[in-house]
Amino acid sequence: MIEPCIKVDQLRVIYNKGKSNEVRSLDGVSVEIYPEEYIIIYGPSGCGKSTLLYGISGLQAPTYGDVIVQGKNLAQMTKRETVEFHQTQVGMVFQAFYLIETLTVLDNVCLPKVFRGEGLKERREKAMELLRRFSISEQADKFPAQLSGGQKQRVSIARALVNNPEIILADEPVGNLDSESAQNVLDIFKEINEIDKKTLIMVTHNPEHLIYADRIIHMKDGKKVSEEVNHDKRPKEALIKDVAATPDEISSELKLLMRTFKNLSLQQVGVLLIPFKAKQLLTHIISELNEEQVGAAENLLKEFLFKNIDSTGLSEKLDLDFDKGGAGWNKIRAMSFTDRTKKILSQAEILNSDQETNIVTFSDYLADLYHLKLDDEIMLRFRSFIKLRVENRIDRFGLQQRLDTSKKLGGAGLYKGSAEKVVREVELIMLLKYSA
Ligand code: ADP
Ligand code: MG
Repeated sequence: MIEPCIKVDQLRVIYNKGKSNEVRSLDGVSVEIYPEEYIIIYGPSGCGKSTLLYGISGLQAPTYGDVIVQGKNLAQMTKRETVEFHQTQVGMVFQAFYLIETLTVLDNVCLPKVFRGEGLKERREKAMELLRRFSISEQADKFPAQLSGGQKQRVSIARALVNNPEIILADEPVGNLDSESAQNVLDIFKEINEIDKKTLIMVTHNPEHLIYADRIIHMKDGKKVSEEVNHDKRPKEALIKDVAATPDEISSELKLLMRTFKNLSLQQVGVLLIPFKAKQLLTHIISELNEEQVGAAENLLKEFLFKNIDSTGLSEKLDLDFDKGGAGWNKIRAMSFTDRTKKILSQAEILNSDQETNIVTFSDYLADLYHLKLDDEIMLRFRSFIKLRVENRIDRFGLQQRLDTSKKLGGAGLYKGSAEKVVREVELIMLLKYSA
């Protein structure tokens, strides 16, 4: 289990507190950020993005709440620790660059090292290395006024990196740049995150930047309104924390339930299993929403499995905002989720009917779902394996083994990953069909 490197807990920042011009810049924001994540704080002007970023950097003290970075509560640090923190733990990049006009480019980059009392030669070497990396070594002896905006920002990124901090914070870093320079800076940030493995937090109000983030914190009026995982980027381990139960847990938990319920009628068991079914169904299909969105969806799934709402109701409520009793998803996700749920449940129903053809239909469904290319002979084998499992004559491991054994040796010859997916789908549908 990876620990967050930054925990913001109920952070409030109130300016002019108690006066007529009181501003609640941040109104109870909680965020957890994990090592190596690329986070974007996104929202309209004045919503509190910069305040949140400065809160994380320790430049803005909380009115209430806590900010914990690398296990240390910023408010409880001594002066000395705070200085050390700014010099070595976080690097900052601003929209307005904040370069010192009277120092050369090289000296600007070296500055954080000067404060650390490092020798001249060593400082300059590290700084030059960064200038070369960002293609501005030729500007080393120039003054900031002689540089373009894009070059200035690259200098300030070099300055942020010179003490090799784990965390880089950037406040609208491309807000003042032309599109080509902006792209160049965004590429550098991507590299810093992916190659240098820095945790990166960038503030922006430009929706075109969102593709770069692993996770987006949406803000409005001093509050976090939602968190969104960027599905187009590969989710990191940390992002799928504790959502998906492992297959082993599913079956052992189910066994426990069966034992507990052995004196109840089948119908009673079915009712008792519904919350469990809802959870399994949900974790099976999605693993990338925030806790609130997942919790709300789970409740809706229960309603759906209890048949208190139909699939149209499920889809609508998933899409609806929290404050209106929904799960705060979006329409496309709500629709595709509902569609997938319906398909899974219809397979469970098919398996429950005693028709001869149900194994054929189910096998075709699985092959189609995972785009398995099975010739006629292998399809027959595949069906026979599925049948063995559905009739409980082999367990999940038996099925897994038969699916990923090579064709020559009598298996279905699936890739390991495909075999695992098929097994998971089969196990889920077997659970769902249980006294459905
Ligand atoms: P963003 O970065 O999203 O544009 P900010 O975090 O800069 O928003 O500001 C959030 C709110 O706090 C705004 O209403 C802003 O006017 C107010 N604010 C920021 N700094 C101060 C300050 N020093 N004094 C009073 N109000 C401030
Ligand atoms: Mg701002």
